[in-house]
Amino acid sequence: MLFLEFPLFSAFLLFVLGLCFGSFSNVIIARVPRGEGITGRSHCMFCKAKLHAHELVPVLSFLVQAGRCRTCKERIAWRYPLIELGGATLFIAAAIMTGTFVEALLLGVALWLLGTISLIDMQMQRIPDALNIPFFLIAALYHILFVVPIDIIAPLIGVLFFGAQWLVSGGRWIGSGDIILIAGIGLLAGSWPLMLITLLCAYGMGALVAAGLLLQGKKKRNDTLAFAPFLAAGLLVALLAGPRFLQVFMYT
Ligand SMILES: [Zn+2]
Repeated sequence: MLFLEFPLFSAFLLFVLGLCFGSFSNVIIARVPRGEGITGRSHCMFCKAKLHAHELVPVLSFLVQAGRCRTCKERIAWRYPLIELGGATLFIAAAIMTGTFVEALLLGVALWLLGTISLIDMQMQRIPDALNIPFFLIAALYHILFVVPIDIIAPLIGVLFFGAQWLVSGGRWIGSGDIILIAGIGLLAGSWPLMLITLLCAYGMGALVAAGLLLQGKKKRNDTLAFAPFLAAGLLVALLAGPRFLQVFMYT
């Protein structure tokens, strides 16, 4: 399953769309946490000069301008082109996991939202509903249109699992936004075995990273760790490698 069944042009179009969505992530990450609107022309962080269309081409503008603002010559962070490439990577991953252009596009947008949510969670330890709710709705649409048979158990496992932690901790470990997020992730996982793989990978990676940070003294026992990135990584592992894994271990 790990190969593209796409005509080259469709794959290229998805790659370019992914770059543009990645570029939009940079705008969202800069503005949504500060409560700013996402419309309006982007400007340089240093000199506030408004950016022209040719300065906003994903990755290429960064390369042509040698990573500097055209007006004030300040260095533009590597984060910007990397996040643009990240968007393209997610769209190509979506193409690998699906069969048609529309299916890949919808899954790509859902994964892109999840990636953007993860970056904001890492930055602020908070998940904005302005991203969470569209993510859930697109995941639900993807599930209804493309997952056969429809599987309510997968999102339910996540909701029950997070709901139990919410009850036990009195809302300290898990917020209501996390429950919307996990329901959307379950809808994308699409079946209960893949949802279990998602959760196992997420908690496994989360535990390893938390242990590493504790040992290095970078975090204390009661510090929080953004969990959305681990859920996103777990979902990618489950969608990319899960079907093959289940084939080998369950049906032979
Ligand atoms: Zn500037």
